[in-house]
Amino acid sequence: MNQEECLQLSNQLLKGDFEIPKESDAELLATQLRSVINFHDQIYYVQSNSIITDYEYDQLFAWLKLIESNYPEFITPNSPTQKVANGLNNDFQTVTHLKPMMSLENSYNAEDLADFEKRITDAIATRNTIQYTVEPKYDGSSIALVYENDIFVRAATRGNGNEGDEITQNAKSIKSIPLKANFSQFGIRKIEVRGEVIINSANFELLLNERNELNKSLKLAGKKTLELFKNPRNTAAGALRMKDPKEVAARKLDAIIYNIGYMEDMDGKEFSHPAFQSQYGNMDKLHDLGFKTPEAERGKFETIEAAAAFCLSWENQRASFPIEIDGMVVKVDDILQQTIIGKTTHHPKWAIAYKFKAQQAFSVLLKIDYQVGRTGAITPVAKIDPVQLAGVEISSISLHNEEFITEKNILLGDTVIIERAGDVIPYIAGALFEKRNGTEIKIQFPSTCPSCNHHLVKPIEESIWRCINPNCPAQLEERLIHFGSKNCMEITGLGEEIVRKFVAEKIIQNFTDIFDLDYEKIRKLEGWKDKSVENLKQSISQAKQQPLWRLIAALGIRHVGTNTAKQLEKQVQKLQDLQDWEIEKLTELEDIGPKVAQSIFEFFNDEENIQLLNKLEELGVNLSNISSSLKLSALLEGKTFLFTGTLNKMSRDDAKELVEKHGGKNLSGISANLHFLIAGEKAGGKLTKAQKIPSIQIIDEDTFLNMIKD
Ligand SMILES: [Zn+2]
Repeated sequence: MNQEECLQLSNQLLKGDFEIPKESDAELLATQLRSVINFHDQIYYVQSNSIITDYEYDQLFAWLKLIESNYPEFITPNSPTQKVANGLNNDFQTVTHLKPMMSLENSYNAEDLADFEKRITDAIATRNTIQYTVEPKYDGSSIALVYENDIFVRAATRGNGNEGDEITQNAKSIKSIPLKANFSQFGIRKIEVRGEVIINSANFELLLNERNELNKSLKLAGKKTLELFKNPRNTAAGALRMKDPKEVAARKLDAIIYNIGYMEDMDGKEFSHPAFQSQYGNMDKLHDLGFKTPEAERGKFETIEAAAAFCLSWENQRASFPIEIDGMVVKVDDILQQTIIGKTTHHPKWAIAYKFKAQQAFSVLLKIDYQVGRTGAITPVAKIDPVQLAGVEISSISLHNEEFITEKNILLGDTVIIERAGDVIPYIAGALFEKRNGTEIKIQFPSTCPSCNHHLVKPIEESIWRCINPNCPAQLEERLIHFGSKNCMEITGLGEEIVRKFVAEKIIQNFTDIFDLDYEKIRKLEGWKDKSVENLKQSISQAKQQPLWRLIAALGIRHVGTNTAKQLEKQVQKLQDLQDWEIEKLTELEDIGPKVAQSIFEFFNDEENIQLLNKLEELGVNLSNISSSLKLSALLEGKTFLFTGTLNKMSRDDAKELVEKHGGKNLSGISANLHFLIAGEKAGGKLTKAQKIPSIQIIDEDTFLNMIKD
């Protein structure tokens, strides 16, 4: 099965009724569920990725369990219900943990914790002496570190609990993992400590921004974009399995250590050191030894009630904590008591996870609004019954595009799952198909613009529908807002609200109107005083003198952002010069791919646009490249020159200046970097030398002058 087939089968299964099937169907259904679950496990544990939501996965898993419990004869030994997923990656060496890394039993509320306490006291029958340590369950990737003779020698992922991937080199790039720790002072020769590798929210946001920027430029260059980071956990887990430790370092990982898995005395015998007999105290010691350990987010309590209250308080403040935590872990603090209480084959009996409620909410999709962007892009926005998610009320969420709606199979009236990870904007993870009652309606993407009624178009290979009416009022309004915005003309007095007001009052209808405002009319508007009118006047008059790149960016040419605008500014003396540029010439510029070039070309070959530029210039807006008015052309851009011998038509200095004015570079000697040697009369040694390098073109003065003749 490949990813696509798996997704297809999963979606088909997810549309099912999740009930106990007839015996004749049970075996096939169980087989299908097993194969997709195994596939999702593989993607999740090995590639640290997922193609369905956690919720959907749980649904599939629960259904398989239901079928198997009713038809035990169809259970197979390799069913995902029968094993812990094998999280091993073939690219890494497999190593055995010194002691198995067990998973934890889950609990969800104070009653569950009370049951947990009862089981413990039954086991040791001395309730009063039990203390509990509570620590966070970080949402990261588990790690086990081995130190031998005080030196960090090995790191491994959790893997399947018994064996993990050896990732020592990658772990060494994590700054919070000490390469040395003085365990020998306690007579400990070898020790395995355990913890979680995480990315904190601030660093995750940085990574997200970096990737967004990178993708933007890849997209503009017509290249394939990189996958976005989904959440801190996936990103951390993925980072640990990267091949280049330098890239791992760039992910800004942190390791928080909170547990001791195994220790050995100086004779190589396993033992339990008398100084390491309290879970809470062990964290203090690990901290003193140089490890990063949980700080305010841990506590030690005399009663399970106090421990439960601590869990609850963290559940309530998790959103403001800089590291994602999906629960707390309650442990019996005394290591000796832990040993007495013991373990099952799967998990220790002296510890339990207290899981936080998912960052998930459910609501009904009431209607879809279609918003028109400044480039005409139509974005469907879901209006939902207002719902609280992680302390924020949500009533509308972007559905991105038509494809997204089709892929998720979302219908109007559906109960949708809203999720959020970290501080990332909430998104719709899918619909609850089992809640459908037949009244849901297929979402019909409009064929005309909600603002101007012009028909919409969708270029092949794009997923966005667009209104292509150049006079579309909705687009116009967005373009005007963009024009005056901070990264464009930066007209401080002309913010979004004012633009909308002016458009509504028909005070502004296009870019040129901004520089030809009817201030008398504005003065009569509600809320406007002489002073505010004066301020607006002043900020608009200042905007006329902005550097040219700001105007280029403000024009809203498709795919042209501030970087491209700055690039273009360098090439011209006056903006209208770009009328003469062919697509080929544009693509020669750095960072300008065919798509961007096409768009620039089209803009400057539209007579209306040129008229607009001329009108702006008449109104006093700067259209000249003031900063490099010396520059004549970019004809020699990227090329290198050297003059030798006697020139007849110009001096050596004039010749060099011409090279620079046309964007070329002068070299001082013969090398493989040289493109052109201009040989005048009586050229000597340099000419001879250049003749030996085939890549150098040897030309005369006239040929050079022809090169810069436009
Ligand atoms: Zn329109």
